[in-house]
Amino acid sequence: MKNTTLLREIAAIILALSAALACPAQENDADDAPEKASAQSVKKAKIDRSDDAPIVGRKRVTIKQSALGKVEEGARPLEREIVGREIADYRTISGAGKYSLEDEFGFLRAIPGDAIESIDDAPDSTLGELRKANEERLLKEFGPSFSIKTTDRYMIVYNSSDGYAEWCARLFESLADGFQRFADKNGLDLQERLEPMTVVVFATKSEFVRYASQETPGADKIAAYYNMETNRVVLYDLSETEGTDAASTKRRRTFLETKEFLSRPNAAFNVSTIVHEATHQVAYNRGLFRRTGPFALWAVEGLSLLFETPNGKASQGGWGYRANFPVNERQLAFFKDFASKTQQKDPLRDLIRQDKFMVDIQGSYATSWALFHYLYKKRPKELAKYMQEIANKPPYTVYSPEERIADFEKYFGDDWEKLTENLLRFIRKL
Ligand SMILES: [Zn+2]
Repeated sequence: MKNTTLLREIAAIILALSAALACPAQENDADDAPEKASAQSVKKAKIDRSDDAPIVGRKRVTIKQSALGKVEEGARPLEREIVGREIADYRTISGAGKYSLEDEFGFLRAIPGDAIESIDDAPDSTLGELRKANEERLLKEFGPSFSIKTTDRYMIVYNSSDGYAEWCARLFESLADGFQRFADKNGLDLQERLEPMTVVVFATKSEFVRYASQETPGADKIAAYYNMETNRVVLYDLSETEGTDAASTKRRRTFLETKEFLSRPNAAFNVSTIVHEATHQVAYNRGLFRRTGPFALWAVEGLSLLFETPNGKASQGGWGYRANFPVNERQLAFFKDFASKTQQKDPLRDLIRQDKFMVDIQGSYATSWALFHYLYKKRPKELAKYMQEIANKPPYTVYSPEERIADFEKYFGDDWEKLTENLLRFIRKL
């Protein structure tokens, strides 16, 4: 069954949940030991991401004249031509239903069948042309005070200092490398993608809040968020928050100064929020999860919470990534607190069955982290297969509580009492 309303609701939930993560900065005890040069090469090196790299296999949807400018679900007006990657074709013969694709700017589109004149193969293109089209669109949307920084995988549109944009670019690329290592280590065969991922960096928190308020509640309480519909991570210059007149000095901050500033312990919490959201983006874009659903929220959040912990790679100010993830101390403390207080008889089963975080957000996040961290350390292959099983379900389908439990039990067994016991024993030793 298709369900785009469900998608929107879940998108809203994920945005709202990100908001719930914003809390006062915590102390960070990451050691800054330099990382030994890794012999393991990252797959990225084999991927041609030059401007000449061919972009093939896309579709072109032509919209009927009469439907032009009409607003589709997701509040995007229909243009004459929409080019992108097909996600699903749920049109019926009568013209009802929807055709869904990710357009060339990364937006998730669900086009009403009765608005469509034709669908054919789009002409082949190059990555350079795609980057140029994205650059033009971003500059048009954000205005002449913004610049674009293009990296292998990302397009960063920013009006912060160049130094801050450079710091973000390295953080995001390092994270995406780390994600690749995570995938390789666990036998996750994920599709590469050439289409750039977009990151929006505002110079000031007030500009961020103005933009973010249109997309998510509680924008003034968060440091960053990922929007599944636009496929963008949005954030602001965290180094701008220093002192009262920092705004006048921030534009002169170099990359090295930014790195130094954001390596300080009191910046750790906000940086981990950026990393958390960037992990959502890369996981969805590499197909480990689907932006269209179905979702297993505990795994989506568990993965991002796993990646939140830096591993001390000095070149990125402590924010580098290998496939070994230290304990997320913050979530560990929350989980211990939750476990000591909860009245639920079977909290693990409840979390997976209901996939709802709204009742006890902090407890749900903490339990997601604890379970994900435990399974990642003890049953990584099964965890990988479980996630891929969900990723392979048809887009926009409803994922029933019974099916959620059945999928989980298929890989981890149905002895929930034993699982809980083992998890608690594991957690006590951390
Ligand atoms: Zn999250």
